[in-house]
Amino acid sequence: MNEFISIDGSHGSGGGQILRVALALSALTLKPVEVSNVRAKRTNPGLRPQHLAAAESVSKLASARATGLHVGSRRVSFNPTRISSGSMRFDIGTAGSTTLVLQALIPPMCFASGTVETNLIGGTNNPLAPPVEFLQWVLQPALAKMGCRLEVDLLRRGFYPVGKGELRARCYPIVKLKPVQITEFGRLEEITGLVYSSRLPGHIPRRIAASAKEHLAKSRLPDAAIEIEEMQPGDARCSQSPGCGISLVAHLTSGAVLSGDSLGRPGKTSEAVGREAAQRLLEQLRTQKPVDSHLGDQLVVYMAPADGTSRIEVTKLTAHTLTSIHVAEQITGARFSVVGEEGTPGLISCQGVGLKNTSLQT
Ligand code: ATP
Repeated sequence: MNEFISIDGSHGSGGGQILRVALALSALTLKPVEVSNVRAKRTNPGLRPQHLAAAESVSKLASARATGLHVGSRRVSFNPTRISSGSMRFDIGTAGSTTLVLQALIPPMCFASGTVETNLIGGTNNPLAPPVEFLQWVLQPALAKMGCRLEVDLLRRGFYPVGKGELRARCYPIVKLKPVQITEFGRLEEITGLVYSSRLPGHIPRRIAASAKEHLAKSRLPDAAIEIEEMQPGDARCSQSPGCGISLVAHLTSGAVLSGDSLGRPGKTSEAVGREAAQRLLEQLRTQKPVDSHLGDQLVVYMAPADGTSRIEVTKLTAHTLTSIHVAEQITGARFSVVGEEGTPGLISCQGVGLKNTSLQT
């Protein structure tokens, strides 16, 4: 029997991402892991419902024997056997982020024995998590470059506190992941975006869009094409709790994309929501680097198993990125090199281990 690889959940950023990276890569490599000190650096350490849903769904997909799967648990052991295929449905039970559950699930979905379709119920647009638009517009095109075919559909928006939004992710399996090279910025071609709002007066999304456009225009950027999705009760995809937000994407001539987003909340003006998203996008554009800072940390789990050398130039080396690299090296044996300091733009290279999908039925 394989030895369990010990992962320290208090390393670096010390949050839920260590667990997600460990589960995803354990499932891909079929190496058992034990994660201790789960979310040790958070004020509410241990598994929250979102992390539990991630662990349970990856366990189901990878037919794993797992221990410590309960809310509050600070130690999880995970021993996968084979990645199967088919349809699954998971309800987080809270407004916890469905997109963060997908962070742990998508890598094993790529290495499954057949097509996997997963429906997830919870939040679709949460603070400190990727909005569903990020998966569709930023992550999905980057994964496509690596050969991964992922489709993400929004079936219903979900906001805090009720959640009950729904996403459907479908992934077609591949034999190996191709390495990725995203190092060229090129020029800014256009900026597009979406303001979404449920159960709120129509002037709110319009003011968010106007504020974002005004702030981008002040920096002499091309006029942004921002769509408005305003939903009210009765619309099939309307959320159960009121909520709103904006996602902006800058399309570069090199084919790369950068993003900036913001969520509304009670007491925050519509103007502040639009301005925040524009500022986040502008900060990244000023670096003239082609890989979004959040995409940087999220690509690490794909670069490590890829078949060859990946190179990406990120707008910011975050603690999440450096922590994910540490965990990915421990589990896969891939070698990363990082040029740059935390908090600044940087170059990440990775000699991937060329992992082969052994579950695939040919
Ligand atoms: P914890 O509560 O332990 O912090 P968590 O499970 O919520 O845990 P983190 O460990 O903080 O998560 O990881 C958050 C993840 O969400 C990271 O991958 C980060 O890049 C991503 N993320 C956060 N905000 C955004 C955003 N606006 N756009 C895209 N991705 C985001």
